[in-house]
Amino acid sequence: MRLSRYFLPTLKETPAEAQIVSHRLMLRAGLIRQQAAGIYSWLPLGFRVLERIARIVREEQDAAGCHEILMPTIQPAELWKESGRYDDYGKEMLRFRDRHDRELLYGPTNEEMVTDIFRAFVKSYRQLPVLLYHIQWKFRDEVRPRFGVMRGREFLMKDSYSFDLDQAGARRSYNKMFVAYLRTFARLGLKAIPMRAETGPIGGDLSHEFIILAETGESQVFVHRDLVERDILAEAVDYDSDLQPLVDSWTSLYAATDEKHDEAAFAAIPPEKRVAARGIEVGHIFYFGTKYSGPEAMNVTVQGPDGKPVHPEMGSYGIGVSRLVGAIIEASHDEAGIIWPESVAPFRVALLNLKVGDATTDALCADLYDRLRANGVEVLYDDREERAGVKFADADLIGLPWQVIVGPKGAAGGMVELKRRKGGERHELDRDAVLERLIG
Ligand code: ATP
Ligand code: MG
Repeated sequence: MRLSRYFLPTLKETPAEAQIVSHRLMLRAGLIRQQAAGIYSWLPLGFRVLERIARIVREEQDAAGCHEILMPTIQPAELWKESGRYDDYGKEMLRFRDRHDRELLYGPTNEEMVTDIFRAFVKSYRQLPVLLYHIQWKFRDEVRPRFGVMRGREFLMKDSYSFDLDQAGARRSYNKMFVAYLRTFARLGLKAIPMRAETGPIGGDLSHEFIILAETGESQVFVHRDLVERDILAEAVDYDSDLQPLVDSWTSLYAATDEKHDEAAFAAIPPEKRVAARGIEVGHIFYFGTKYSGPEAMNVTVQGPDGKPVHPEMGSYGIGVSRLVGAIIEASHDEAGIIWPESVAPFRVALLNLKVGDATTDALCADLYDRLRANGVEVLYDDREERAGVKFADADLIGLPWQVIVGPKGAAGGMVELKRRKGGERHELDRDAVLERLIG
């Protein structure tokens, strides 16, 4: 993509309304535009990141055996009256009426609707387990929308739902999601630690928040260092095998938010293994049994193995897809701007032409641009008639993983500079060497 023809409205000034670094950088790098409190448009660069995150989330859900559907954003109030949540949900739910005076709402979550889909089509235990997910916009009229996309009112969420015959089955589904979440966040370049969360009236220990470590996070967390250093992507995962030992190996080590913190248990960890850090919640998984399928709610049954009706055991599993854009920036930036992990970067390479109009520089840039693109490398080519300083600053701000810097002096000798955004290391390389580095 040529930057001169792209839509990338970067800002030089720091927007006064943004309190945290990710919000400031998202506005300055031209990723989003606020349209109302907690409601944003996604501009081209931001939308590319959002799509890349969604793609990784989707791949890992699919790998775990969860099937993608798409439920609407707008839901009829009746379903929520059936479950009893229409009144319970309170002011966070946006309610309205259509022209026929029917009560509707903008979905804050989808337990009721997915349960309705389930009951329409699943009649026998033989069809279980059922695992469905979608990636869809939600609306919650948060009291205090803030921190940009981190706590929006309209936000993109991946929510999955599991239906099983019994508690053992529900645990298997829960474990699949547990492992899928670890893999998802690791692929996004994040260290996400599962932490035991409140389970509500159902009890049990089947609720975890996935919290990423970031200096600017909202909550204080305490974790065993082995969890931070463990690389789940290096481990082979077979979703058809028993995942319980793997899940246990994560949950047996200490990890807690300050609400659930146990000073004595933390102190029992060897000092060099104690990590006290800040964290951001990016996912939440939850087993809630028959809360929605039960007789006091939507009263859904399937025929059990003995011919008698059974209420399916359910769980739900959320990932804040749009929050992740902010969370990744919180975890990965410096004073100059964003540092995108390779897996979600909107483009892989920034190609900087420091002297547009100089024949040799232009020719070398054009050649690199064509070669990289021909080999499937996504390049944002800064071909604007701007000063070198502006190009350097914008490239650091938007944070693509690699910068190829082409100036007239180097170009005359066939040389360019390759800079890695993370860490800032630079190498003088000739054309072939730089192509080999970025393509190979
Ligand atoms: P929080 O405690 O942050 O309000 P929650 O417990 O209400 O979160 P869930 O209902 O579990 O959140 O939703 C699943 C995920 O959706 C959360 O882990 C979070 O990443 C994301 N999320 C929830 N609320 C928002 C919001 N207002 N803006 C952006 N993302 C959100
Ligand atoms: Mg909430």
